[in-house]
Amino acid sequence: MADMVATWRCLKKLDQPFMYIYTKRSTSAASETASVSVAPKYVYTPLNHLKDGTVVNLYGIVKFFKPPYVSKGTDYCSVVTLVDPSNAKLTCTLFSGNLDSLPKIYKIGDIVRFHRIKIREYNGQMQGITSGGFASLTFDGSVGAPVVPRTSSKLYTFLDEEQKTIEELRAWAASNLSISGPTAKLSGVQPMLFFDLTCQLVGKARVDGSSFLLKVWDGTKCPYPTWKVPVEARDLEGEKGLLQQLRNLTVDILVYDNHVQLAKSLKIGSFLRIYSIHTKQASADNQDVSHVEFHLHGGTCYGRGIGVLPESNPDVKELKAFLESVDLADSQNMESMSSVELDGIFSNVTDLQSHLQRCQQLSVTVLTDHQDLNNTGLKTILNSTAPQQYRIRAKLRTFKPQKLHQCIKLYCSKCNSLKEVPNGDDFDLILQDAAATAPNPELRNTSWYDSVMWTTQDQKQRKIAIHFVKHDEMLQEPEETLLMIEGGTLKEVWKLSRRFKCVIPVRSTEDDLELLDLSAPFLLQGSVKYYGCKQCSTPKTIKSLSSLAAEQRPSWEPTEIAQVLGIVPLQYVFIMKFTLVDGTGALNAYLFDYEKFFQIPASEILTNNFLQQKMQMTMNTLCPPGRKLDDLPWLECFIKSYNITDGMKHQVYYQIFDTTVAEDVV
Ligand SMILES: [Zn+2]
Repeated sequence: MADMVATWRCLKKLDQPFMYIYTKRSTSAASETASVSVAPKYVYTPLNHLKDGTVVNLYGIVKFFKPPYVSKGTDYCSVVTLVDPSNAKLTCTLFSGNLDSLPKIYKIGDIVRFHRIKIREYNGQMQGITSGGFASLTFDGSVGAPVVPRTSSKLYTFLDEEQKTIEELRAWAASNLSISGPTAKLSGVQPMLFFDLTCQLVGKARVDGSSFLLKVWDGTKCPYPTWKVPVEARDLEGEKGLLQQLRNLTVDILVYDNHVQLAKSLKIGSFLRIYSIHTKQASADNQDVSHVEFHLHGGTCYGRGIGVLPESNPDVKELKAFLESVDLADSQNMESMSSVELDGIFSNVTDLQSHLQRCQQLSVTVLTDHQDLNNTGLKTILNSTAPQQYRIRAKLRTFKPQKLHQCIKLYCSKCNSLKEVPNGDDFDLILQDAAATAPNPELRNTSWYDSVMWTTQDQKQRKIAIHFVKHDEMLQEPEETLLMIEGGTLKEVWKLSRRFKCVIPVRSTEDDLELLDLSAPFLLQGSVKYYGCKQCSTPKTIKSLSSLAAEQRPSWEPTEIAQVLGIVPLQYVFIMKFTLVDGTGALNAYLFDYEKFFQIPASEILTNNFLQQKMQMTMNTLCPPGRKLDDLPWLECFIKSYNITDGMKHQVYYQIFDTTVAEDVV
């Protein structure tokens, strides 16, 4: 009975309303059982007794986890590795459309109870995945902490004997696992390391499409000068007065890629635990003073992510009390204090390296299909006839081209030809050439576009015409507008393409506008230039576009625009040659990829610094420069062989397919 009272008391502390179904031990008196026993009794399977294809209930201690992140589509995904006193290990991949229904794990050492988790065997290991009816409770794993389940469910069972289970697991973990995470206060951060930070969100701002700024504080002062991410004042959300008051105590954390969506949704003032923040030391090119930067890189390697902590969390309570005690007047005087003590920073490089190595023991690529195929040694493949398909496990000894921008080409799927991406100079020349023809005044203001014309004031006195395509007889918002330009320079065309949805460079003929030479892009959207195949296209006059403008809701898709204009579009592709080795042999395989392998669109990489960096980092992970063969990571790939006959010469080639870089390698 004492147990029961204690449990009730703990549960009453929860602020949120919930329903508690209480079941007595089976030895209880019949009358008591009848009044309260409404829950089924669950059987819990130890982790060393799991069987493929079963759906089970289990308890486990969190050894590793990735906080929920947005996976493909709209589902959230969380990964949790559990251990229990049987010393078996189970990694569970949990999906849900509802963030709240995933376990609320805040740190390594937390204890979870899963109901109805599906077990399957993969590569000789048991894995857990969510099945219908999956439910979870999470408990603090510290000995002596109240046994209060964290759950969003208002309806769950928790038997009093389970309180004992939790306490036993806590005691076992305390003496058998080392579960202190790499948490740190800002005052204790070390450059070049990764750490978990418990903090309060003070401000946030959009930086660009793939990164987002969080301004946070934990009441302590970082001992190094920290960077300030430049953002427009109007983009910065947060209470202006507080941001100003705390300006010497807040740090800027830049979050990337898959974390952006979650970061955007965070409420100012909320308490966060940010996992695996990278503290990077950097010095600006023109300054001697170095500073530290805080990055939450894309991907979820090593549990990287952001968790929101409720106010009831013990760490939050402690942090709140501490924040309230901080003397803000003191911190204002710290402005001048930026004496940098950089000695000893590199003593921890080995820590960093061991972290990176841990990330690289797993295969750095994943297969997107045909999981059932067995591995084949490269020597066997080289001795076999083509065409065939294989699954391989190999290391990337080298690749070509080494300059990554050289691996982007334009491909015509109709005539199978590959072309170099033209550079800006070619386009400039074509525009200059076209500007020699003055806009034809008779082609102004038709039924489907409005025109603006003027003459530049400089010596050249260029005549420029811009034709704005109308829809329903109306001009559209700039971001919806397609326009055509005559007589513009490279810079003008480029500027317009940033502001308007579509820009088509044209010139006048006697009776219609027409596209320029196909060495120039036929369309610009944002920073992407679209080209057509010279061999396969039969350009039509611009009038053909009016049929698209007349549509209910013109989408201005490049493929549709190309089609009505008689253009066969060229696609941006990555083309690379990988030299793969596996101990039995070496084989050259081609990578031909639009987007899937790197998860970077080939069309955007040439104009996007961030994507270029991401790709460089990916290649550095797949094939780290200066490493011995033994230390290279493994790649699991599918390759297919095929025959090419060129005159009398016959050769077998290999191509990588249905393979993608693991999402957490970068
Ligand atoms: Zn072609």
